[in-house]
Amino acid sequence: MTLPFFPPDLFEADRDTLIEIVRDLGTGPAQRFILGDHTARFEQALRDTVAGADVVACGSGTSALSLVLAALDIGPGDEVVVPAFGCAPIAATVVTAGAIPVFADVRPDTMTLDPELAEAAITPRTKAIMPAHQFSVMADMPAFEDIAARHGLRLVEDSAVAQGATLHGRPAGTWGDAGVFSFVQVKSFGMPGEGGVVVTRNPDLARTVRMLRNHGQDGRQRFVHHRIGYNSRFDEVQAAFQLRRLPGLAARLARRADIAEYYTRQFAPLAGRGITPPPPGRDGRCYYVYCLRADRRDELAAHLAALGIGTHVYYPAPLPAQPAFARWAPAGKVWPNATAASETILALPVYPHLTDAQVEHIAAAVCQFADRKDPRP
Ligand SMILES: *Cc1c(COP(=O)(O)O)cnc(C)c1O
Repeated sequence: MTLPFFPPDLFEADRDTLIEIVRDLGTGPAQRFILGDHTARFEQALRDTVAGADVVACGSGTSALSLVLAALDIGPGDEVVVPAFGCAPIAATVVTAGAIPVFADVRPDTMTLDPELAEAAITPRTKAIMPAHQFSVMADMPAFEDIAARHGLRLVEDSAVAQGATLHGRPAGTWGDAGVFSFVQVKSFGMPGEGGVVVTRNPDLARTVRMLRNHGQDGRQRFVHHRIGYNSRFDEVQAAFQLRRLPGLAARLARRADIAEYYTRQFAPLAGRGITPPPPGRDGRCYYVYCLRADRRDELAAHLAALGIGTHVYYPAPLPAQPAFARWAPAGKVWPNATAASETILALPVYPHLTDAQVEHIAAAVCQFADRKDPRP
């Protein structure tokens, strides 16, 4: 691939920075490698990006979801409404909390949890709703806040992919009881390692999550365990690295948005020819991944591959169709929009260091496929 889907040179520009940080921390007097000053400063720096909400750094985005569910006392007997289409942690964290994931279908245009179908899935055992922002579009959080308020439910925002996005002026991560970000390599603020954060405006929840990430200790007294906790701590090297890169994040996100906007403009005329771009606009958009819908998805992927352009299928099956979640997929129940999404979705490269010429080349290759190969009358 001349244009791979995952760029191999993701951290090239930061390599010297990383080596310098490893040397400084590795030879420094503190010899503290987790949850030290750098992590505290990183959490503080991120607070400024989420309208002052508290930020608790932890081991991964998945772990952040688990910490939130545990802090909200979601466990055996509780149901959590989750989207039928998305990544495994959305449902897996509910299962590992001991609770029951109840799958509701997504909307056909945004591929995020459909508020009406989520509300229809509420039962007397429902404790929370956990929508997820998907690829480039935030879930309809105002609708979910309304539903959660009317039914007295917790609202957990899986904002793992949406760091830096805003919806109606409100940052991703700050909706509902708590949100999360992930810093796994491929995410918009990915790093060379594992990590994530919990974002919450609720000080009690933040305090509980801080305890849970470090074996239930409160940070004052060692070996006093207030809660059954986890080992989900944050690495000092990664914290120092992310602190150095944070000032450049807004520009990288803006570049992603520009690329996505260009794609969507080029692809809008293809809508009648079997290729549908995601909804246009910038409000509630995040561009972690740029996914279009293509009726002949596998042919389009092969066409692009022949031109050296790497693509990716997120996700090839709806969650209830995965063997791991079969137990929570009631017999006879269908999620037609999730199924259609898994059959037609294709992600194009959208990383910020693509050049304009490369972006134009990718868009032209997609348009060429739509022009040349339409078998319909
Ligand atoms: C990446 C991702 C996660 C998990 O984050 P990790 O850091 O990989 O554990 C959770 N939810 C969504 C929607 C994600 O895309």
